[in-house]
Amino acid sequence: MEEKLRWIDPHVHMSARTTDDYEAMAAAGVVAVIEPSFWLGQPRTQVGSFQDYFSSLVGWEPFRASQFGIKHYCTIGLNSKEANNEALAEEVMELLPLYLHKENVVAVGEIGYDDQTPAEDKYFRAQLELAKELDLLVQIHTPHRDKKAGTHRSMEVCLEHGLDPGRVVIDHNNEETVQEVLDKGFIAAFTIYPKTKMGNKRMVEVVKRFGSTNIIVDSSADWGVSDPLAVPKTASLMLREGVPKEDVVKTCYQNALDVFGMSGKMKEEHWLDAPGIDQRQLFEDNSVLRGQEPRVDSDTIS
Ligand SMILES: [Zn+2]
Repeated sequence: MEEKLRWIDPHVHMSARTTDDYEAMAAAGVVAVIEPSFWLGQPRTQVGSFQDYFSSLVGWEPFRASQFGIKHYCTIGLNSKEANNEALAEEVMELLPLYLHKENVVAVGEIGYDDQTPAEDKYFRAQLELAKELDLLVQIHTPHRDKKAGTHRSMEVCLEHGLDPGRVVIDHNNEETVQEVLDKGFIAAFTIYPKTKMGNKRMVEVVKRFGSTNIIVDSSADWGVSDPLAVPKTASLMLREGVPKEDVVKTCYQNALDVFGMSGKMKEEHWLDAPGIDQRQLFEDNSVLRGQEPRVDSDTIS
């Protein structure tokens, strides 16, 4: 029988996805996800909207994931787009420390630059200082426009603030940015979009060319055109294209675990020793069932 490999998607916005996605991800071998906090596709107008969103990332969403056999972690931060509303940004900064210590929060994220405005720069730096003060990892969103310069600048600012590059994940890399990220000692994450940017085949080439050290694959799936199965699909393509299994496991599982595991909050035992799914469970009196028959797995066989 073929060995069943496990995958981690360390950047996926599950709040925007369906239970079908959770089921498909679990069936494809995804055992854990990290959900970075980000924007909603339209700007929030009040701090309470951030507060409820952060609360769902440490409350309802990990429960929902557990009901489909997936361990859910998140990163908490003020996203770059919304840093441009300075009055609101100030209020969000006050909220962050209340959430960053929660048990499934593995980093400050996703933070960084979008349009590289002065306000984005100000709150990016403020959050790097917060990460340093609280000894937290950082997950960085690099801009989609002016990618190379924006990625370079993100790293320079991290170094300027004295962050350890080995504790900072730079996301949304491409062939143009990866070498510099690795050379500087940062972790290079790659987002696999279904049609644009890093296609699956391109990711295979990246791993063949740059190896598997400090390289991570993710889906960044959200409410837009995206694929929550991007990690398992890319992993199978890599295996089919002759990438050694060890490199596939590192880029699609182990590296994410090693890096985000430095938080002390993400542990392999969370899924290896997890009890079976029990959909009779409730979170604040609510279940995921909507009147359907609960799935109840007989407890783990030891
Ligand atoms: Zn994202």
